Amino acid sequence: MEVRDLHKSFGDNEVLKGIDFHVNQGEVVCVIGPSGSGKSTLLRCVNRLEEPTSGLIRVEGVDITDPETDLDAVRTRIGMVFQQFNLFPHLNVLQNLTLAQRRAKKRGKAEAEETAMKNLAKVGLADRAKAFPAQLSGGQQQRVAIARALSMDPDMMLFDEPTSALDPELVGDVLEVMRQLAEEGMTMMVVTHEMGFAREVGDRVVFMDGGVVVEQGNPVDVLGNPRHERTRSFLSKVL
Ligand code: ADP
Ligand code: MG
Repeated sequence: MEVRDLHKSFGDNEVLKGIDFHVNQGEVVCVIGPSGSGKSTLLRCVNRLEEPTSGLIRVEGVDITDPETDLDAVRTRIGMVFQQFNLFPHLNVLQNLTLAQRRAKKRGKAEAEETAMKNLAKVGLADRAKAFPAQLSGGQQQRVAIARALSMDPDMMLFDEPTSALDPELVGDVLEVMRQLAEEGMTMMVVTHEMGFAREVGDRVVFMDGGVVVEQGNPVDVLGNPRHERTRSFLSKVL
């Protein structure tokens, strides 16, 4: 995935001021930065939940800012996991995982359920297929949301602060699932405040502030020996 000179404004408020960014196949890129720096907007532009004001976004060589591009097809190839889990409360776990597969991928019931169960097993929740979201902890709900995204067989996963809404004791299980995904070679872009995860799992860390990429590089360098004052100042508050 490649982003070139991406700009995004909401009215007069320019939130992304020329972002250049890429994620290689199989790479895990962690995006860090203060609240309001444009991290979520960047992620939302990548799967076109937001329309960029200008710039280029290519996913597997296809320009997704081109009006001719089939956005539904783009979105089935890019899985997204949000801070709020966004599960359907009136559907059980299995139904949450099969709905989009049946609608967007036109899978039959048996195939959708088989794919769902495989991914529930992967996140350690095969035994909760018949539970409703409200019967699960926040961490379990987020693992279901990850399994739901994986059930679409995405080529890339985007995570927007997936553990920020969780009680501290529930964070580890979700990060463990993400670490396992990374080890399996999933291409991932992860907005996170979990610096331990960024250091240990990230191939690259990108620090954003004020709608620009201030610095990026190897996690050990960016987190351990930042070159820019703004990065140092941010890290001193979160580490
Ligand atoms: P971050 O995820 O880094 O905290 P965001 O991308 O959510 O930052 O927000 C960056 C800026 O864009 C904020 O000032 C926010 O108010 C503004 N913004 C985000 N989404 C919208 C929107 N839909 N309409 C207007 N302003 C928005
Ligand atoms: Mg955000």
